Amino acid sequence: MLVAIDGPVGAGKSTVARAVAQRLGFTYLDTGAMYRCVALAAIDDESADRVRPVAELQIDFAGDAVMLDHADVTAAIRTPEVSQRASQVATDVAVREALVERQRKLTARGDWVAEGRDIGTVVRPDAELKVFLTASDEERAARRAAQTGRPVAEELADLRERDERDRTREASPLRRADDAVEVDTTGLPFDAVVERIAALVEE
Ligand code: C5P
Repeated sequence: MLVAIDGPVGAGKSTVARAVAQRLGFTYLDTGAMYRCVALAAIDDESADRVRPVAELQIDFAGDAVMLDHADVTAAIRTPEVSQRASQVATDVAVREALVERQRKLTARGDWVAEGRDIGTVVRPDAELKVFLTASDEERAARRAAQTGRPVAEELADLRERDERDRTREASPLRRADDAVEVDTTGLPFDAVVERIAALVEE
Protein backbone atom coordinates (compact mmCIF):
# COMPACT_ATOMS: atom_id res chain seq x y z
CA MET A 1 0.00 0.00 0.00
CA LEU A 2 1.16 3.53 -0.72
CA VAL A 3 0.04 6.83 0.77
CA ALA A 4 1.12 9.81 -1.36
CA ILE A 5 1.48 13.18 0.34
CA ASP A 6 2.17 16.12 -1.96
CA GLY A 7 2.00 19.86 -1.53
CA PRO A 8 3.96 23.12 -1.53
CA VAL A 9 6.97 24.03 0.63
CA GLY A 10 6.37 24.07 4.39
CA ALA A 11 2.84 22.65 4.39
CA GLY A 12 4.07 20.15 7.00
CA LYS A 13 4.54 17.22 4.62
CA SER A 14 7.69 15.76 6.21
CA THR A 15 6.56 15.93 9.83
CA VAL A 16 3.08 14.69 8.99
CA ALA A 17 4.26 11.92 6.63
CA ARG A 18 6.81 10.69 9.16
CA ALA A 19 4.19 10.57 11.93
CA VAL A 20 1.58 8.87 9.73
CA ALA A 21 4.17 6.26 8.67
CA GLN A 22 5.15 5.59 12.26
CA ARG A 23 1.56 5.28 13.36
CA LEU A 24 0.65 2.84 10.58
CA GLY A 25 3.93 0.90 10.65
CA PHE A 26 4.72 1.99 7.07
CA THR A 27 8.10 3.13 5.72
CA TYR A 28 8.57 6.86 5.15
CA LEU A 29 10.10 8.17 1.92
CA ASP A 30 11.25 11.80 1.68
CA THR A 31 11.65 12.35 -2.08
CA GLY A 32 12.67 16.00 -1.54
CA ALA A 33 15.81 14.68 0.21
CA MET A 34 16.76 12.97 -3.07
CA TYR A 35 16.49 16.25 -5.03
CA ARG A 36 18.49 17.90 -2.24
CA CYS A 37 21.25 15.29 -2.62
CA VAL A 38 21.46 15.97 -6.35
CA ALA A 39 21.71 19.71 -5.56
CA LEU A 40 24.45 19.17 -2.96
CA ALA A 41 26.42 17.03 -5.41
CA ALA A 42 26.04 19.72 -8.08
CA ILE A 43 27.38 22.38 -5.69
CA ASP A 44 30.31 20.12 -4.73
CA ASP A 45 31.01 19.31 -8.38
CA GLU A 46 31.36 23.00 -9.20
CA SER A 47 34.83 22.93 -7.66
CA ALA A 48 35.69 19.79 -9.68
CA ASP A 49 35.90 19.64 -13.48
CA ARG A 50 32.81 17.61 -14.13
CA VAL A 51 29.19 17.51 -13.01
CA ARG A 52 28.28 13.91 -12.27
CA PRO A 53 25.06 12.57 -13.78
CA VAL A 54 22.43 11.43 -11.27
CA ALA A 55 23.08 7.79 -12.23
CA GLU A 56 26.51 8.09 -10.58
CA LEU A 57 25.17 9.32 -7.25
CA GLN A 58 24.58 6.84 -4.46
CA ILE A 59 21.61 8.09 -2.42
CA ASP A 60 20.50 6.01 0.57
CA PHE A 61 18.32 6.36 3.63
CA ALA A 62 19.60 4.92 6.92
CA GLY A 63 16.80 5.38 9.43
CA ASP A 64 16.35 9.16 9.67
CA ALA A 65 19.75 9.82 8.10
CA VAL A 66 20.28 10.69 4.43
CA MET A 67 23.46 9.33 2.86
CA LEU A 68 25.11 10.62 -0.31
CA ASP A 69 27.95 8.45 -1.59
CA HIS A 70 28.08 6.83 1.86
CA ALA A 71 28.56 10.16 3.69
CA ASP A 72 25.92 11.44 6.14
CA VAL A 73 24.45 14.59 4.56
CA THR A 74 21.32 14.84 6.75
CA ALA A 75 22.21 18.36 7.96
CA ALA A 76 24.14 19.50 4.88
CA ILE A 77 21.10 19.15 2.58
CA ARG A 78 18.92 21.47 4.73
CA THR A 79 20.73 24.78 4.11
CA PRO A 80 18.88 27.61 2.28
CA GLU A 81 21.45 27.35 -0.54
CA VAL A 82 20.70 23.65 -1.08
CA SER A 83 16.92 24.31 -0.87
CA GLN A 84 17.08 26.81 -3.72
CA ARG A 85 19.46 24.68 -5.74
CA ALA A 86 17.21 21.60 -5.25
CA SER A 87 14.25 23.50 -6.66
CA GLN A 88 16.39 24.40 -9.68
CA VAL A 89 17.72 20.89 -10.36
CA ALA A 90 14.12 19.65 -10.00
CA THR A 91 13.24 21.45 -13.25
CA ASP A 92 15.67 19.19 -15.17
CA VAL A 93 13.81 16.40 -16.98
CA ALA A 94 16.75 13.97 -16.85
CA VAL A 95 17.13 14.46 -13.09
CA ARG A 96 13.39 13.91 -12.56
CA GLU A 97 13.29 10.78 -14.72
CA ALA A 98 16.23 9.22 -12.87
CA LEU A 99 14.79 9.98 -9.42
CA VAL A 100 11.23 8.98 -10.31
CA GLU A 101 12.52 5.60 -11.49
CA ARG A 102 14.35 5.07 -8.18
CA GLN A 103 11.27 6.13 -6.23
CA ARG A 104 9.09 3.65 -8.13
CA LYS A 105 11.56 0.83 -7.52
CA LEU A 106 11.89 1.66 -3.84
CA THR A 107 8.13 1.73 -3.23
CA ALA A 108 7.26 -1.27 -5.42
CA ARG A 109 7.11 -3.60 -2.43
CA GLY A 110 5.79 -3.03 1.09
CA ASP A 111 3.81 -0.24 2.72
CA TRP A 112 4.94 3.34 2.23
CA VAL A 113 4.13 6.93 3.01
CA ALA A 114 5.92 8.87 0.25
CA GLU A 115 6.08 12.64 0.33
CA GLY A 116 7.00 15.20 -2.34
CA ARG A 117 5.47 17.21 -5.18
CA ASP A 118 4.57 14.61 -7.81
CA ILE A 119 3.97 11.34 -5.97
CA GLY A 120 0.23 11.18 -6.67
CA THR A 121 0.50 12.64 -10.18
CA VAL A 122 3.65 11.05 -11.64
CA VAL A 123 5.60 8.69 -9.38
CA ARG A 124 2.69 6.55 -8.19
CA PRO A 125 -0.64 7.65 -9.71
CA ASP A 126 -1.86 4.22 -8.51
CA ALA A 127 -1.42 5.23 -4.83
CA GLU A 128 -4.25 3.93 -2.66
CA LEU A 129 -4.54 7.29 -0.91
CA LYS A 130 -3.45 10.71 -2.16
CA VAL A 131 -3.31 13.71 0.12
CA PHE A 132 -2.54 17.27 -0.97
CA LEU A 133 -1.38 19.27 2.06
CA THR A 134 -1.64 23.03 2.01
CA ALA A 135 -1.50 25.95 4.45
CA SER A 136 -1.49 29.72 4.06
CA ASP A 137 1.79 31.29 2.89
CA GLU A 138 2.16 33.15 6.19
CA GLU A 139 1.69 30.05 8.30
CA ARG A 140 4.09 28.03 6.17
CA ALA A 141 6.73 30.76 6.48
CA ALA A 142 6.22 31.04 10.24
CA ARG A 143 6.59 27.26 10.68
CA ARG A 144 9.80 27.20 8.68
CA ALA A 145 11.20 30.20 10.56
CA ALA A 146 10.54 28.38 13.85
CA GLN A 147 12.56 25.42 12.55
CA THR A 148 15.45 27.33 10.97
CA GLY A 149 15.75 30.46 13.12
CA ARG A 150 15.71 32.66 9.98
CA PRO A 151 13.40 35.71 9.77
CA VAL A 152 9.82 34.95 8.65
CA ALA A 153 10.13 37.42 5.75
CA GLU A 154 13.15 35.54 4.36
CA GLU A 155 11.35 32.21 4.63
CA LEU A 156 8.29 33.71 2.94
CA ALA A 157 10.32 35.00 -0.01
CA ASP A 158 12.18 31.70 -0.29
CA LEU A 159 9.09 29.51 -0.25
CA ARG A 160 7.22 31.70 -2.74
CA GLU A 161 10.15 31.50 -5.13
CA ARG A 162 10.41 27.70 -4.82
CA ASP A 163 6.62 27.19 -5.11
CA GLU A 164 6.48 29.36 -8.20
CA ARG A 165 9.27 27.35 -9.82
CA ASP A 166 7.56 24.06 -8.90
CA ARG A 167 4.19 25.23 -10.26
CA THR A 168 5.43 26.69 -13.51
CA ARG A 169 8.11 24.19 -14.55
CA GLU A 170 7.41 22.16 -17.68
CA ALA A 171 8.40 18.80 -16.21
CA SER A 172 5.81 17.48 -13.73
CA PRO A 173 4.61 20.80 -12.34
CA LEU A 174 3.26 20.81 -8.79
CA ARG A 175 -0.49 20.30 -8.84
CA ARG A 176 -3.13 18.45 -6.86
CA ALA A 177 -4.05 15.08 -8.40
CA ASP A 178 -7.75 15.01 -9.34
CA ASP A 179 -8.39 12.20 -6.88
CA ALA A 180 -6.32 13.66 -4.01
CA VAL A 181 -7.92 14.73 -0.74
CA GLU A 182 -6.91 18.31 0.02
CA VAL A 183 -6.09 18.98 3.66
CA ASP A 184 -5.58 22.64 4.59
CA THR A 185 -3.46 22.60 7.75
CA THR A 186 -3.75 26.34 8.46
CA GLY A 187 -4.56 26.66 12.16
CA LEU A 188 -4.85 22.88 12.58
CA PRO A 189 -2.80 21.25 15.32
CA PHE A 190 -0.27 18.71 14.00
CA ASP A 191 -1.95 15.79 15.81
CA ALA A 192 -5.28 16.57 14.15
CA VAL A 193 -3.68 16.43 10.69
CA VAL A 194 -2.02 13.07 11.43
CA GLU A 195 -5.30 11.79 12.88
CA ARG A 196 -7.25 12.86 9.79
CA ILE A 197 -4.85 11.16 7.35
CA ALA A 198 -4.57 7.97 9.42
CA ALA A 199 -8.40 7.86 9.50
CA LEU A 200 -8.50 8.18 5.69
CA VAL A 201 -6.12 5.19 5.38
CA GLU A 202 -8.13 3.11 7.82
CA GLU A 203 -11.46 3.92 6.10
O1 C5P B 1 10.40 18.86 -0.09
P1 C5P B 1 11.69 19.59 -0.15
O2 C5P B 1 11.57 21.06 0.13
O3 C5P B 1 12.77 18.96 0.69
O4 C5P B 1 12.20 19.45 -1.67
C1 C5P B 1 13.27 20.20 -2.19
C2 C5P B 1 12.92 20.62 -3.61
O5 C5P B 1 12.87 19.46 -4.45
C3 C5P B 1 11.57 21.30 -3.75
O6 C5P B 1 11.68 22.72 -3.66
C4 C5P B 1 11.07 20.86 -5.12
O7 C5P B 1 11.43 21.78 -6.10
C5 C5P B 1 11.82 19.57 -5.40
N1 C5P B 1 10.99 18.35 -5.34
C6 C5P B 1 10.33 17.96 -6.48
N2 C5P B 1 9.62 16.80 -6.50
C7 C5P B 1 9.54 16.03 -5.40
C8 C5P B 1 10.19 16.43 -4.19
C9 C5P B 1 10.90 17.61 -4.20
O8 C5P B 1 10.38 18.66 -7.49
N3 C5P B 1 8.87 14.87 -5.44
